[in-house]
Amino acid sequence: MASFHTKDVEEVIKELDTNIRGLSSSEVEKRIQKYGYNELEEKKGKTFFQMFISQFKDFMIIILLIAVAISLLVGEVIDAAIILAIVVLNALLGSIQENRANEALKALKKLSTPHAKVLRDGEVKVVSSKEIVPGDIVLLEAGDFVPADGRLIEAAALKVNESSLTGESVPVEKQIDPLDSENVSLGDRINMVFAGTTVVYGRGKMVVTGTGMNTEMGKIASMMGEEEETIPLQERLNKLGKTLGIAALFICALIFLIGYLRGTPILEMFLTSISLAVAAIPEGLPAIVTITLAIGVQRLAKRNAIIRKLPAVETLGSANVICTDKTGTLTLNQMTVTHVYIDNNIKRFKDINDDNRIFKLIATSALCTDARISEEGKKIGDPTEVALVAALKKLGKEKVELENKYRRIDELPFDSDRKLMTTVHKYEDKFISITKGAPEYLISRCSHIDDNGKIRPIKQEDLQNIDKANEDLARNGMRILAVTYKFLQDDNFDREELEKNLVFLGLIGMIDPPRPEAKEAIRKCDLAGITTVMITGDHKLTAEAIAKSLGILHEGEKVITGEELDKMDFDELVKNIKKIRVYARVAPEHKVMIVKAWQKNGAIVAMTGDGVNDAPALSQADIGVAMGITGTEVAKEAADMVLTDDNFATIVSAVEEGRTIYSNIRKSVRYLLSCNIAEILTVFIATLMGLGQPLLAIHLLWINLVTDSLPALALGMEPPTKDVMIAKPRRRDESIFADGLGIQVLIEGIIMSLLSITAFMIGRTHSLETAETMTFMTLVFSQLFHALNARSNKESLFKINFFSNKFLIGSIGIGILLQLTLDTPFLSKIFEISVLNMNQWLWVLALSFVFVILVEIEKIFLRLFHKKPDKEFITQQL
Ligand code: ATP
Repeated sequence: MASFHTKDVEEVIKELDTNIRGLSSSEVEKRIQKYGYNELEEKKGKTFFQMFISQFKDFMIIILLIAVAISLLVGEVIDAAIILAIVVLNALLGSIQENRANEALKALKKLSTPHAKVLRDGEVKVVSSKEIVPGDIVLLEAGDFVPADGRLIEAAALKVNESSLTGESVPVEKQIDPLDSENVSLGDRINMVFAGTTVVYGRGKMVVTGTGMNTEMGKIASMMGEEEETIPLQERLNKLGKTLGIAALFICALIFLIGYLRGTPILEMFLTSISLAVAAIPEGLPAIVTITLAIGVQRLAKRNAIIRKLPAVETLGSANVICTDKTGTLTLNQMTVTHVYIDNNIKRFKDINDDNRIFKLIATSALCTDARISEEGKKIGDPTEVALVAALKKLGKEKVELENKYRRIDELPFDSDRKLMTTVHKYEDKFISITKGAPEYLISRCSHIDDNGKIRPIKQEDLQNIDKANEDLARNGMRILAVTYKFLQDDNFDREELEKNLVFLGLIGMIDPPRPEAKEAIRKCDLAGITTVMITGDHKLTAEAIAKSLGILHEGEKVITGEELDKMDFDELVKNIKKIRVYARVAPEHKVMIVKAWQKNGAIVAMTGDGVNDAPALSQADIGVAMGITGTEVAKEAADMVLTDDNFATIVSAVEEGRTIYSNIRKSVRYLLSCNIAEILTVFIATLMGLGQPLLAIHLLWINLVTDSLPALALGMEPPTKDVMIAKPRRRDESIFADGLGIQVLIEGIIMSLLSITAFMIGRTHSLETAETMTFMTLVFSQLFHALNARSNKESLFKINFFSNKFLIGSIGIGILLQLTLDTPFLSKIFEISVLNMNQWLWVLALSFVFVILVEIEKIFLRLFHKKPDKEFITQQL
């Protein structure tokens, strides 16, 4: 096999048993069977059983298992069995949760796998890179990932960045001729391309020579080990868990000591303290965070935002600046030619037209495009170019007809830095090159002008007229292309000289309507304290007109160009950046500077991008957002989030989801911690006052490991609240307990424990067992009701739609059912529950309900005393 680089194209194609029209679908099937999928072998994920076993590595669970062993040793078989059963049940729940989170993430990974363009049965198809087989013909263009190893069969100014393989960051210029020597290093095999590298410039075609583990990348697959993602919020919660854990262990040791000194049997005291420690340590929190994030990621996917990196979900919630491209994100990217400028006149472009000059302008520009319109009317290619081909069609001419007459023999592709594109054509025995692009970049390259068909030197006056026409069109929000050409002597031209000494022909103005939902989304951002910044390659006046119509640019705010940006030093930009809302005529490189300057001001920046040169800015931004439809594979790879509809409004929905997810995690934290505090305090106060044991070890374990976890999880699924987008973004380093949550947790824990102690005292008048049962029941019911309280920080629970979170209602229902099953003859014996009479049941329910009322009163106080930045903020904004 090997050494394809020394063979010529025909030989390689023959050896791989394929042809330049590509393989047939049935052949592809066969080859997949033979060679397998084009993917690197992955580490195998954990099986469910392994997940289950790993739950037992938890420190507290190990202590509990020791407790089981001790209980067995001293003959307390029933206690041991119950603790074991609860631990197993908890591990089972834990592994189900972990499994669910993993599945969700796996499904998302699938959504964001790279794609490639292949020729199959003579047609261009976009397929998942996984389905590429040896012998496939793959089309490559700037921004694509090379999906497999291959021998080039076509290369037009093709440049590939091979740093992932060779470490060399300068792109390699490729060609198709065979090489003389077999022994050339990878970096020098310039007629080959390799999987995992990226096309940064030009166009090409390759025949696939190796896939999957048979690629150069496959050979060094060990390099590809996946990094574990760390989620900052989870780390913070882990730390919090540890701190609380140490405090809890200390209190438990104290309770153990006091209880023992008061004469409680040592084993009973030991079990109670350990169970209390288990109850106090919020070991479920990290799992809840992962699951809430994973569920959020699924919700985001439904709203057209694919999350590629999990921590981005958390960051989204604190985003306060969104830097967005204009074309396609704020606008529809449906370009239509509406005006032309030729022979010193601006003219409306009409469908039926017998103006030769307009025809010449449009036909020349359409030849210099890679777009086409299929027979069925499907538009293929860059919308700016499609507009030109469509305009030609309106004038009654098909692009193919022209192409057959003026054959393309060379090209310099468009890129956002040069903002120009050139094609060279052969016509009979003449050669002509056409260059089109942004007027400011092109006019200075013109030495002549086509004046009513006569070519003459361009004059100062012509330049002034062109400038004025350019500005007039731009002021109306149009994208403008200048069209130029020049005749060449022969085909022995210097490519460097192609874009010099050109003949100016005319300007073409096209409109691109704003997306109807963009304006509302920008208003939403304003209300949410998020600054929207527009970045575009278009003319300053075009940008300004559109920014004004969308509500991005207000009085006193500035529009600056890439050129002006180049003149500023970084510190100056940092100082002025808050005033600048629009950047026009910028190159992708400027985006990095803009992100950095905002970040220097403490902003959390989301930045959109689609091209290969946008990747650095996407990586630099706190949330890199790539376009799913028009974005290159390279941009998607560098991004944290991909928009499947390329729509600005989707970013805003994603921020809304991000905020909701964070606030839901806070709800779970509040719920779990206040419940845990209540459990500790109940036992602590009772022990201190010498009242006896209000809760048995198994009661504590049952509450903490069984009835608590479902509602906590369900709180993570709360729908967005009405006010989620009318508050300032939270600071990234803001404590999870900010805005009074810490105090709230404490107050609620204390109230709940006092009510439980009250239940205990009431029960004590009957018997110790009744007292324990009443405490157990009161604690469980008030916790289940508390899940409803925790749905909102300050808002009354009666104001929230009761049924808007079905999972929560379901989890409370299950909790109540589980609790009531303990009241059956067999289980009540095991859990040492005594039968309560009507009166005692009424007490339990009344105390649990009083808890809800007290939290409602607490919320009234919070509403009264807590500063309300939201309202002031809204009035400020309106
Ligand atoms: P945005 O940044 O708003 O999304 P963009 O990235 O599409 O816009 P560029 O692609 O940099 O912006 O285009 C900037 C300018 O380049 C346009 O105003 C136009 O004059 C010119 N231009 C765009 N597409 C082409 C093309 N295919 N050929 C030649 N010139 C083009």
